[in-house]
Amino acid sequence: MMEYQHPIINNIDSLKTLIGKKYYYLGKNKQQEISRLIFEIAKREKVGFSDVLEQIPPPPHRFSFIKNYLLERRYPSFHQKGLKISQAFCDVDINPSFKVDLTTKPLIVPKQFFIEKSVLSTDTVQQIRDKFPDSTFTAIESYRDHVKNKEFSIIDYNKRLESFYIIREKFDFYKHCPCSNDSASCGYYVMNLGSGCPYECVYCFLQNYVNSPGIMLPANIEDFFAVFRNLKKDMRLGSGEFTDSLAFDHIMEYSPKIVNFFRQYPKSTFEFKTKSNNIQLLTSLQGTKNIIISWSLNPQKLIDTAEFFTASLDERLEAAQKCIEAGYRVAFHFDPIVCYRGWETDYELLINAVFDKIGEAENMAWLSLGTLRVSPQLKKIIENRFPETTLLDEELLTGFDGKLRYPTEVRSFIYNSMTSWIRKKSKNVPVYLCMEDMKMHRNTQLSQTLQ
Ligand code: SF4
Repeated sequence: MMEYQHPIINNIDSLKTLIGKKYYYLGKNKQQEISRLIFEIAKREKVGFSDVLEQIPPPPHRFSFIKNYLLERRYPSFHQKGLKISQAFCDVDINPSFKVDLTTKPLIVPKQFFIEKSVLSTDTVQQIRDKFPDSTFTAIESYRDHVKNKEFSIIDYNKRLESFYIIREKFDFYKHCPCSNDSASCGYYVMNLGSGCPYECVYCFLQNYVNSPGIMLPANIEDFFAVFRNLKKDMRLGSGEFTDSLAFDHIMEYSPKIVNFFRQYPKSTFEFKTKSNNIQLLTSLQGTKNIIISWSLNPQKLIDTAEFFTASLDERLEAAQKCIEAGYRVAFHFDPIVCYRGWETDYELLINAVFDKIGEAENMAWLSLGTLRVSPQLKKIIENRFPETTLLDEELLTGFDGKLRYPTEVRSFIYNSMTSWIRKKSKNVPVYLCMEDMKMHRNTQLSQTLQ
């Protein structure tokens, strides 16, 4: 998983020019497909694109012949298994100005707050003002009004930590977790406590989802509690879908309020999902078993190359230990599992490390498994923001939900291997699959739900 700066990334225009000259008799779309496949082969094999181009066997010149040759080389294991690939391949389009600056870990100290007028006098805003006296505070009529008629690009997304919007949430207090199309839903609810994340995970879907110039955080948490009381319904819910549940806890200080609210509803479980070790406020109060603090986990070499600025594996596991000592239960999400040469050794070691550190499985509420999935739109954003990543070099194809995934048999093998390593350590800890179809649930005999 070493990052590798391939010269082709800065040379895509020359590749396209060459393809245009050599295959002048093909239409634009066909030329684009050839460029895309040569780009991916050169990057994956760490060779020059002219090497790939020259190795395409000489005539016949038919497009189907050229494409088949390139597909066999781009997807060697599919070719070996006789799997037919029938999808089209999009243009390569990389703008160097979209690249993320990964050289300096950003401090999560907001420089600039935009505050909706309707929350100006709330205790939360007063507490933020006291805490960040050097920040600029600007009152705005509403977020919607402030961004009206503005368009945002990847450059704005890259600068999102410069502006924080403190808003009044009026409608979207709780919603069903946004599962993939045709996935088997696990019945989870999302408490919509903000949008935007300070970390830079290469695979993060927020890059393609958030259309905002900054981080949005609601000031009216009491309204969330009031809505929950009125729903009169026990739920499994959490706040970590559109943001990291704890990354901004030192700004909003919501975790103690959430714990004290949900301890009154022991039949509901609230999950803080994080890749941080920002647990100081949580561990400053007595925990309760229906509050789950959970971490996504990956081998450290993947954290180093694909989860930039997050807490290290050791920091996450130490934070989990402290949360257990404080009286909470913990959970872990092996998600996304990435398949690369040697993944089996690394993930088995990871599972062993978790059980060695955490000990009794009774402290673990659940484990979840999910493999890498990336929508075609997200793939293009990743190529622009993280041009050197090797994450997309593996053999991924359009899956049941239109996202690029490992093929069914590879995913089944991964899930069955992960489950067998987990079961060596604990017979009982609940394990479920995230964002998979019913066929995969049958293949693995793993649950889609914990209820
Ligand atoms: S921690 Fe989660 S929300 Fe934040 S960048 Fe990573 S994947 Fe996205």
